[in-house]
Amino acid sequence: MNKTGDLFKNLLGFKHNSKYVKSYLNDANIKSSIYMSFIVLVIETWMILRRFYLAKYIPNNWDSYSNKFELIFKYTGQYALFSVCAITVFLFSLFIANKKNNRGTLIANLITGSICVLWGSFIAFEILFKNITYGNFYYVATIMIYATVSLLGIFVISHAIYQWKTNKKNIVLSNAIIICFSLICLLFGLAVGYQDFNKGYMITCFLTMILFVACLLIWKPYISIIILTSIFVLFYLMQRNFDVSMLNANEVNYITFFISLTMVTISIYQQRVTEAKKDEQLIHDAIYDHSIEIHNVRYIIEKIKEDRANDLAKLQNKIYLFFNLVNFKTINVQRSFDEGDKFLDLFAKKLIQEFNGDYVARQSDDKFVVLTGDNTFMNKINELSDYVKELADGLFILLKVGGYKLQINETPYRAIGKAKIACGLISLKHDTIYNEYDDEMNEKFIKQQYIINHLDEALEKGWVRAYFQPVVWSDTHDLCGAEALARWIDPIYGFLSPADFIPVLEDTRLIHKLDKYIIEYVCKYLRQEIDEGKPVVPISINFSRLDFELMNVLDSLNEYQQKYNIDKKYIHVEITESALSDNVDNLNIQINDIKNAGYAIWLDDFGSGYSSLNVLKDFMFDVVKIDMKFLSNFEKNERTKDILDCIIQLATRLGMKTLTEGVETKEEADFLQAIGCGRLQGYLFGKPYKDEDFQQKILDKELKLSDHIL
Ligand code: C2E
Ligand code: MG
Ligand code: MG
Repeated sequence: MNKTGDLFKNLLGFKHNSKYVKSYLNDANIKSSIYMSFIVLVIETWMILRRFYLAKYIPNNWDSYSNKFELIFKYTGQYALFSVCAITVFLFSLFIANKKNNRGTLIANLITGSICVLWGSFIAFEILFKNITYGNFYYVATIMIYATVSLLGIFVISHAIYQWKTNKKNIVLSNAIIICFSLICLLFGLAVGYQDFNKGYMITCFLTMILFVACLLIWKPYISIIILTSIFVLFYLMQRNFDVSMLNANEVNYITFFISLTMVTISIYQQRVTEAKKDEQLIHDAIYDHSIEIHNVRYIIEKIKEDRANDLAKLQNKIYLFFNLVNFKTINVQRSFDEGDKFLDLFAKKLIQEFNGDYVARQSDDKFVVLTGDNTFMNKINELSDYVKELADGLFILLKVGGYKLQINETPYRAIGKAKIACGLISLKHDTIYNEYDDEMNEKFIKQQYIINHLDEALEKGWVRAYFQPVVWSDTHDLCGAEALARWIDPIYGFLSPADFIPVLEDTRLIHKLDKYIIEYVCKYLRQEIDEGKPVVPISINFSRLDFELMNVLDSLNEYQQKYNIDKKYIHVEITESALSDNVDNLNIQINDIKNAGYAIWLDDFGSGYSSLNVLKDFMFDVVKIDMKFLSNFEKNERTKDILDCIIQLATRLGMKTLTEGVETKEEADFLQAIGCGRLQGYLFGKPYKDEDFQQKILDKELKLSDHIL
């Protein structure tokens, strides 16, 4: 029973439609009113011309009429008013459909609307007080037509003012306008049909107007049934007053036409609603992330578009928040992907709950975006940060948030990008959760974009070079190697250090291009020096963790080592400790392959990350480079010395050689030598030099070459 009830409810259109479907149907009706009003306008113009030019409508004594205007008006006034109605609706629908809202549209709507109000009410009153014969359908219908014309004008004026003030369309008013126009058409059809029938003509005008209203516009089925039934019954009753009433056969045709028309209108409605729902589903799918229950970023973009068109005030004082779960991947690696998904799902739920009523979406993987107007958002961020720590349950996963205030004219993608930059700038700062974008960052952002866009050109034109920083034996301070450090000498920005471009290239996954270039640069340099008979030392090249994902490091090394025919002992591979803490199997295999191929592997920045000792357990390095941070407090902090001592003993015991970077004073160098650190690197022995300067310093004996390099 319930199901049948539902079916009927559905069929008759009693079921509630979603906001999207309602607006879809309203838009369709507005478009249809453009056609409808245009056709009415054409018909009315034709009628005016016909009345005016066809002799039988012009009285024989035309010339004797002193007031020609009154005469013309008498014969064409009714059609002229309908033309004005049609123009009014035509302009209104056209402006709404094209989302036009400016002074011009306001004035046009006010003028046409006012003409309808004045003209319609004037004639309605005139008929009412002068000519009316009570009980005559024709006159009742005509008064109603003119009254509705006035009403139409009032609605058009109200809508124009509403739209001008709020920059929004009003569905109730626009529906009222469409209903008024339909009513005018129906009553007009009824009145003309009544006259025609009386004269024994076909009721074409009556049927045409019904077809217009019932088939061009989409009504809820029960409303169509009410409209069609009342208008058909009304006409049927009217014609019974005549001497010539319908024949039996015509009555059957009349009812059949009524039934088929009703069916057509119901079918049109159902079809349109199905289309609208399909559309709604497509949009929903496009903006919803089904893997976890949350919208994706396109949802926010769509919402902003909507607000921009309909309600600008909604966007005032809003801020974009970009959420990133730093180090999230560890959960996939150390636990499982399922655990990772569960984590994201729970986080998303909490985010939606905290920012209830705001626009919340997932950008990708572990990144989310919120657009909020709540200025207490910092409390919510703190809540979420605690929640992340709780979920991480011992793993080192941190929540970082970047903020950027919404600017009305900026594209959302760009704005979200800025919030992301602000977030990225604190990803390694342990004591900061939130960072808001400012103009300084903007400059940084522009610089970053420049770097991304000009990398290929920079490599091609040689703007990027490797500088060589000396590495010395701790006992003799003789030169035993060098580290290749990238520098970008830019025609616009001048000298750029790795801190300017390495993080950007890592973020955009372009770093392998640079590192491949540096491998070739180093090999080419070595070949040139060897060919010129100059002395050379081994050079260590820095690799990023991403290099191992983005290229085959060993293949690239081999490619240039073979191309320039360089002995492998002259090339050292530096991998930074943080790369290894990810503990990715692929990386492990590649490192072993590189080692087995004959290249020395150096561990860079030991002690800077969180899993230093683990790294020593899992990998066998040729040299451990101790991070320069250990030396930063060398003078004041006695414990630094103990720690350095222990690290060097540990590495030595594990069979690895040691190097300490960032050595700036003689005391440091002496101490490090005393505790057994084999190699030293730092400004005390030399800064990173241009390759030609580096070579010159060797030739000048400013850098004294060691007699052994391994
Ligand atoms: P890193 O590999 O740890 O390089 C050592 C950094 O310490 C260099 O900074 C060097 O100039 C600086 N340094 C050396 N001695 C001293 C000293 O006595 N005192 C102080 N305060 N600093 C010293 P740089 O050249 O700015 O490079 C920074 C980082 O950028 C490097 O750290 C490395 O991780 C990365 N990098 C540089 N070039 C490349 C490259 O070609 N590819 C990749 N993937 N990374 C690179
Ligand atoms: Mg290095
Ligand atoms: Mg280092």
